Amino acid sequence: MPKSFTELLIDPWELAQRRQRLQGEIAPQSLSRLNAQLTQSAGQILFDWQFEIIEHYVVIVGQLNVQLSLQCQRCLRSMLWETRLETALCPLKPEQESDEQNLPAGYEAIPLPTARVKLGLLIEDEVLLAVPFAPLHEQCLAHEFWHDEAVSAEFEAAQKEQAQANPFQALAALKR
Ligand SMILES: [Zn+2]
Repeated sequence: MPKSFTELLIDPWELAQRRQRLQGEIAPQSLSRLNAQLTQSAGQILFDWQFEIIEHYVVIVGQLNVQLSLQCQRCLRSMLWETRLETALCPLKPEQESDEQNLPAGYEAIPLPTARVKLGLLIEDEVLLAVPFAPLHEQCLAHEFWHDEAVSAEFEAAQKEQAQANPFQALAALKR
């Protein structure tokens, strides 16, 4: 196995014949489309994929454990986003595409242009589908500031104090 799984060319049909299981780690930054959404190099993608043949179809079953550094869309700080994805794919050769109706139930068809494909591309496609459009911290600092009633009460009290301390405002009040 080469050091980087990203560029590893696999033939799902050959792997399925041998009932091969592929396990390893991919650096999210090594996947160019995904990398465009990352804020930091922290994070990892662990894959555990079993290649099998079900009802004459090649299928890939397993999990992806994903950890990515994304930008929180509320406070714009970096956040670690984690998820576990179940994989149930049915790769199809170009001449197989018309057979989509007969696929084994529960598997998502992925038409492949060639028999050999980069493992990194297959994994990247799965992860990109799961990445949230607007990721948010579960406990976001910006959210806590604006929604913490104690903070906003303090803020209002400070504003009042400032208004009282302003002599021109006091004068204006007298004139009324
Ligand atoms: Zn945040």
